[in-house]
Amino acid sequence: MTTQQTVRCPNCGSLAERWHHANSIQTECSACDYLMVTCSKTGNVLEAYAPGISVSDFVSIQSVLTLEPLARSLS
Ligand SMILES: [Zn+2]
Repeated sequence: MTTQQTVRCPNCGSLAERWHHANSIQTECSACDYLMVTCSKTGNVLEAYAPGISVSDFVSIQSVLTLEPLARSLS
């Protein structure tokens, strides 16, 4: 089952789309060409692209994405 979520792009702050697929989670932003695909089981980054972001930065972005539901439940 595939579900879609609207999220804030971690790169430019515009509204981006996050797709929850069976085995992966894909986040893409049409405003800045940000793209990240992570494995839904392991959380590993399968594919990532964003203008102006080096590959090593995706580790910190990934942790932000992972923590997002926790931050939301606290507020
Ligand atoms: Zn963006």
